[in-house]
Amino acid sequence: MEQGLYGREITRKEWKEDGAILEKADQRAGLLKVSGKWQCQRCGTDEADRFVPAPCACGKDCVYCSVCLNMGKIKTCSVLYSLPEQNTFDCPIGSPLQWNGTLSTEQNRASKDIVETVQQKTL
Ligand SMILES: [Zn+2]
Ligand SMILES: [Zn+2]
Repeated sequence: MEQGLYGREITRKEWKEDGAILEKADQRAGLLKVSGKWQCQRCGTDEADRFVPAPCACGKDCVYCSVCLNMGKIKTCSVLYSLPEQNTFDCPIGSPLQWNGTLSTEQNRASKDIVETVQQKTL
């Protein structure tokens, strides 16, 4: 299911599907040096004190981003895979927020209560 990559930045570790799909995807470094500063390619952080050096499984001393750590560690040696967003959404026609239904007695009362409360607050 390559849809899982549409518009997303995913590391190999996070990818649970067929690895062949990743080979076709766009690949870029997780962290890039941009005008002398590290920049996380997933969350966009470039504040120097947000990047933490640590010995890494790759054998080098890598730097990782502490901002988007809860989404998984993005390190110097991380590769982000992505595919361009393909989802297209139909534009709603008419008045998409208008509802033409009938409220039950209880819903009707709740609805009136809410309207009254709001009106009292604004007076
Ligand atoms: Zn980050
Ligand atoms: Zn590493």
